[in-house]
Amino acid sequence: MSVKLNSFILPDNIIKKMEEQIEKTRNTKIEHGLNLCKHDANIIYKDECTGDTCEIRIKSECSNQDITPKVGDFHTHPRGSPKMSLADLKNACHHDFKCIGSIDNSIICFAKKSVPYPEGCSIEVENIIIGTEEISRETGMLKRERSMLDTLKNIPNVDMNKYRELYNEHNIKIKQHNENVSYLNKRKDMVRNTYFKEIRVK
Ligand SMILES: [Zn+2]
Repeated sequence: MSVKLNSFILPDNIIKKMEEQIEKTRNTKIEHGLNLCKHDANIIYKDECTGDTCEIRIKSECSNQDITPKVGDFHTHPRGSPKMSLADLKNACHHDFKCIGSIDNSIICFAKKSVPYPEGCSIEVENIIIGTEEISRETGMLKRERSMLDTLKNIPNVDMNKYRELYNEHNIKIKQHNENVSYLNKRKDMVRNTYFKEIRVK
């Protein structure tokens, strides 16, 4: 059964192709994907490709792009649900839709809503990526601090009051860190919901 994607129809043969790629992913545990290209009023697929266990690089334009410009793409996720990762979201900002298949055989397309100021999508995602990088530096720093505290505790005759003080400070930092993580996740959901609507293909 074909599915309506904004002004396009995702035809049955492409959905079948997507199912085939999901099947390959189930067998190989690696990502598969293809480009969705506009051809007159229809969508055709091109540029089938294979990635690795957690990433795929689908061509940024459809081959023969003057005649068949890219409107979106499809790729599979070997693990988890068909949700957009941060990298998927970044890439999706530039196209009409992005479709993801998961090995439980579901396919979801994220179709661009028409919202004022569409460039905001990329800018906001870029800021979330910068925030995520800061967060992972923070995670590393907090882990090192924690292991230093553990070492300190085991030193004989350590000043336990001083140790507790440092330990409490460390816990406050962890609390703040967790708040930053959940804030960024909320921002990501917000960007996704502002710019995309979810269309379940199957
Ligand atoms: Zn993905």
